[in-house]
Amino acid sequence: MTLGLYVHVPFCETKCPYCDFNTYAAIESLMPGYVDAVANEITEWGAWLERPTLSSLFFGGGTPSYLPTRDIAKLMRAVHAAYDLPTDAEATLEANPGDCSRERLQAIRRSGVNRLSIGVQSFDDNELRLLGRRHSVDQAIAAVRAARVAGFDNLSVDLMFGLPYQFAASWAHSLEEAIALDPEHISAYALTLEGGTPMEADVTGGRLPEADPDIAAEMYHMTCETLAAAGYQQYEISNWSKPGLESTHNLTYWRNEAWLAVGPGAHGYIARGPGALSALPEHGVRFADMKPPRAYIQRAAAWRATGPLNADTLSIAAAVDTIELTTRAMAMGETMMMGLRLNPGVSDASFRQRFGVGIVDAFPGAASDCLDDGLLEWAGDRLRLTDFGRPLGNEAFGRFIAEALD
Ligand code: SF4
Repeated sequence: MTLGLYVHVPFCETKCPYCDFNTYAAIESLMPGYVDAVANEITEWGAWLERPTLSSLFFGGGTPSYLPTRDIAKLMRAVHAAYDLPTDAEATLEANPGDCSRERLQAIRRSGVNRLSIGVQSFDDNELRLLGRRHSVDQAIAAVRAARVAGFDNLSVDLMFGLPYQFAASWAHSLEEAIALDPEHISAYALTLEGGTPMEADVTGGRLPEADPDIAAEMYHMTCETLAAAGYQQYEISNWSKPGLESTHNLTYWRNEAWLAVGPGAHGYIARGPGALSALPEHGVRFADMKPPRAYIQRAAAWRATGPLNADTLSIAAAVDTIELTTRAMAMGETMMMGLRLNPGVSDASFRQRFGVGIVDAFPGAASDCLDDGLLEWAGDRLRLTDFGRPLGNEAFGRFIAEALD
């Protein structure tokens, strides 16, 4: 049995105005309790699953690099004690450039983390201020260099485009600067205005202009062309890597495979499999830990996994707030929605092996409509987004989900 492990860290030094993640500023006093609670959850899950092998580990958030390095080391020890984490398995930690002194990064590397995902977002200080980020361009560049000195040979740089006031020339500059730092992986996401965030209120209140969607589309095309010319292969709508250095952890999500999740508000997905997974529903169960950090700490710290793992025992696991049994139809829809994000698309043979039916038979309407509209194409056995369809992926995904729910 192999699966990924996601650890949610709900702390940020400051809250960015566009962010709607389950993450909080000014709750640092909860850090010690959080670390004990999440270490316990890691340990109990490992025992419940009889020491599974991890295909990947990901500390996300929030700002995992904001945790004291001794706490990151403590969580890594908890992982190693309860799971098999092969030395070559990807172990990523999301880092804010402002936290990336050489000493801190060396300590994080020594703890066993072997990949950093650095939240650079922009190489323009005005844009960083607009995004409410607490680092500068100089700090971002210094962070990447410090990571190399600390021994990280697998780095990802996160960038954002489609920002208010952002022009194509500024985005081109950010791409060039990112390429010059030679990271193994680049993620480039368009800013989405999430309801209830201060930035959304500023845009709807007229205090901030909405980004021009045509300029954002131009930036996306520029991203594809610029990164391809620099030797980065696009493997997902918003992700590029040097050959063979795709994010193993994120591929787990996009392939709709199993991962554990611990920490406040973390979402996981597990399905029937060998050994301790044998009593789970065939098409799996999604679960989420409770979101409020204080409540999470109280419940997770005292949790003892008891009885064989099944949907009932999972639903009463101390830190788990919600579970959702996945029907066969939903599992098929989600496999298409996530898999089509990947440039290679979804293999018909793999889909048939998993669900006993081919893609076109499962989704006659969505598949043929998307093919007719030029959103999708066949490449051998794989159904994938076309270059035209890639920026319009949500349209295609919505059709598959709608047909799955029909
Ligand atoms: S640092 Fe990341 S997680 Fe924290 S508030 Fe900003 S965008 Fe959200």
